[in-house]
Amino acid sequence: MSAPCSRPVVLCLSGHDPSGGAGLQADIEALMAQGCHAAPAVTALTVQDTVDVSDFRVLDRDWVLAQANAVIADLPVAAVKLGMLGSVEMVETVLEIMQKLPGVPLICDPVLRAGGGGALGKDEVGYAMRERLFPVSTIATPNLPEARILAELPNGSADECAEKLLPFIRHLLITGGHGDETEVHNRLYYRDGSRYDFSCQRLPGSYHGSGCTLASALSGRLALGQELASAVKSALDYTWRTLRDAEAPGRGQYIPRRL
Ligand code: PLP
Repeated sequence: MSAPCSRPVVLCLSGHDPSGGAGLQADIEALMAQGCHAAPAVTALTVQDTVDVSDFRVLDRDWVLAQANAVIADLPVAAVKLGMLGSVEMVETVLEIMQKLPGVPLICDPVLRAGGGGALGKDEVGYAMRERLFPVSTIATPNLPEARILAELPNGSADECAEKLLPFIRHLLITGGHGDETEVHNRLYYRDGSRYDFSCQRLPGSYHGSGCTLASALSGRLALGQELASAVKSALDYTWRTLRDAEAPGRGQYIPRRL
């Protein structure tokens, strides 16, 4: 006997990280923890461990479209979460996919670097996200280094980056995990000028997949119908707990404990 799915479905368009720390595995685990069902469509394969990434390959556009179309034709997609896209062509592919999902919230994690610092796409991919995907996104979740690339302000503050990026997108969450202050300052900006600051205690160590965890948890919360600022708070609190409980199974970064 089949029963309707009570867990909202989130279509994830992200890369695969074989260490299991970031990418689609992070998305699946974080979404399960929110009570959502992840539909993971692969955009790119990476070669990496918990230290850094050594290579990646972006999938053919047709393969990504076919995966997304199969999900859309079958499942009631309640939100779409973007992770690593890897190429400008993949940005256009996502736009084509979103045309089939009018009104569905789009959460954009502008992934350009791996946790260890290696590139997962050229800066041009970030600029294409800004120009093409931000206007159709509900929110983007860059960390400050990513926001500086997207805003083309190499030393810009979060406020300066937000001012440059908000003409492109309705809401922006700039996270502060990559700084060195004792507190982490995460800032949520609305195009209408509203703003919320969420601070938390900085945890020691360096984490692999924290951004993926946050953006996925947020997409799950939005898929469940939570209001934006409250969804951001819930996702930040959840992510902080996954980092507090993180373990280092390899030679490199800690992996968040999402479940
Ligand atoms: N997506 C993929 C496939 C990755 O491999 C990585 C990092 O290695 C990321 C996203 C971003 O990771 P983080 O959440 O640490 O920024």
